[in-house]
Amino acid sequence: MYITSNKVVSLKYKLSNHQSGEKIEETNEENPLVFLYGVGGLIPEFEDNLAGKKVGDSFDFHILASNAYGDHDPEHIAMIPSNVFHDDNGNFDNEMFQVGAMIPMSDSEGNHMQGKIMEVDEENVKMDFNHPLAGTDLHFQGDILDIREATEDELAHGHVHGEHGHQH
Ligand SMILES: [Zn+2]
Repeated sequence: MYITSNKVVSLKYKLSNHQSGEKIEETNEENPLVFLYGVGGLIPEFEDNLAGKKVGDSFDFHILASNAYGDHDPEHIAMIPSNVFHDDNGNFDNEMFQVGAMIPMSDSEGNHMQGKIMEVDEENVKMDFNHPLAGTDLHFQGDILDIREATEDELAHGHVHGEHGHQH
């Protein structure tokens, strides 16, 4: 069986920064990535690189940032008055607000996003709202572990059910 649309694919991969080689994340046989192929759930170029592969095949490719999580956009960096983060007593939580910390925020329309703290001073917190992998060229290496037909339920829902999928 080969990877084509509407197959359920299990694979393990190591994702690293294509330029620096630094490891970003890794899955293994016990905790593989399991997904319904061809429904647009993943980065399109990631799926393109797996087309036609079979169980036991390996892969090794990279995807430029602009085709993955986008380029790093300086307009998504904001200066936020630190009093926004004060608690009811007017205190600033210095433990939470460390440089590099990811802080859940919502914008004026109620959309949730994560901001990464870049700098903290008396008046402002400088935050980066780009995706953590924006501007990073992604390098994927791994192996195809399993391929099976999707069930009718899975096709109707557009996602995988079972052990590594949706539990419902
Ligand atoms: Zn479902």
